[in-house]
Amino acid sequence: MKIMEEIKERFKEKGINPSYHRLKIYENLVSRSDHPTVEMIYNDLNQSIPTLSKTTVYNTLKVFSSSGLALPISIDETEIRYDAKMSFHGHLHCVKCHNIVDVDIDPQVEELLMKTSEHSVEECHVYLKGVCKKCLQ
Ligand SMILES: [Zn+2]
Ligand SMILES: [Zn+2]
Repeated sequence: MKIMEEIKERFKEKGINPSYHRLKIYENLVSRSDHPTVEMIYNDLNQSIPTLSKTTVYNTLKVFSSSGLALPISIDETEIRYDAKMSFHGHLHCVKCHNIVDVDIDPQVEELLMKTSEHSVEECHVYLKGVCKKCLQ
């Protein structure tokens, strides 16, 4: 399994202990682009890993976030979503289907936003709200 080897390598770089649960949770997160919640990941893995608890998923995502393996997205105030795509991109919150979809944004926009502020900016997130292309069809 090549993907697992890659994930283990990424964990090693970030200094994360590659437990079975962590590997499975990360594998699930990188395989999808719907920015899942703790609940969504749990529901997906629960069948194949009965020993997994929702708390483990929650704690594991916290570890991923603090070590730079995943990005927590709080675009929807009721729940936190997670993203394993760490390169700069924006998120559109669709008011119709409530999905959060990736929006490609020129990396220069990030640079511009970071340096126009007189403060020391450490992170830059672009949140957009509207109707996604699927719903527009
Ligand atoms: Zn939509
Ligand atoms: Zn994303």
